[in-house]
Amino acid sequence: MTTQSPISAVIAPVTPLQQNCTIVWCSKTRKAAIIDPGGEVDRLLRALKDQGLTLEKIWITHGHMDHAGGAAELKAKTGVPIEGPHKDDQFWIDRIQESGEMYGMPEARIFVPDRWLEDGDVVTLGETQFEVLHCPGHTPGHVVFFHRETKFAQVGDVLFQGSIGRTDFPRGNHQDLIDAITGKLWPLGDDIRFVPGHGPMSSFGAERRSNPFVGDRAVAAMKGPGYTAPVNRSPG
Ligand SMILES: [Zn+2]
Ligand SMILES: [Zn+2]
Repeated sequence: MTTQSPISAVIAPVTPLQQNCTIVWCSKTRKAAIIDPGGEVDRLLRALKDQGLTLEKIWITHGHMDHAGGAAELKAKTGVPIEGPHKDDQFWIDRIQESGEMYGMPEARIFVPDRWLEDGDVVTLGETQFEVLHCPGHTPGHVVFFHRETKFAQVGDVLFQGSIGRTDFPRGNHQDLIDAITGKLWPLGDDIRFVPGHGPMSSFGAERRSNPFVGDRAVAAMKGPGYTAPVNRSPG
């Protein structure tokens, strides 16, 4: 007998910003969620079909166009509900059309999620569940989806391999982001593997060892005099 992992995931980068749209599914029921369908909806639907999956949920980490720009179209084509982000990101969702035109994605549409998410919420997928963590800073309504059993997280633009999300956008807040990462993500454990919004996967332990913004050495330095954060050149 083989023991099958309760969830599986594939990453399908979308949009000119190469955003890590993630298809996750319950291995037992093959019911799937698409996390952050920024665009290229028909390609995502083909990927679902190729894997023999049934779409059950659309999950959104935050309201930026490259993450949420395809959600309205995906919902219109499948009828499945949009869950997330936290309601503080509605002002970003309201700008999706504008940013879509800027990035040559005229099909990007604004929407209102079927369910806003709060810190501590649980979202279900087939016979499995993900925990929701509200991690503001990059945007005020950013959420993270966490599957405890398999130690897997989709963190959007909160944390990257070697970097953190930008905080120079309207209502961005550097300290909120640092607090969310060190206060909410690190306690989940060094062995949590995560998909960031852009770039390669990493683990919380690897980032604690070497991330120049939120690694343990950086956090210790923040408490000393004269600390300035490194310049952030992250893609999201
Ligand atoms: Zn992004
Ligand atoms: Zn973003």
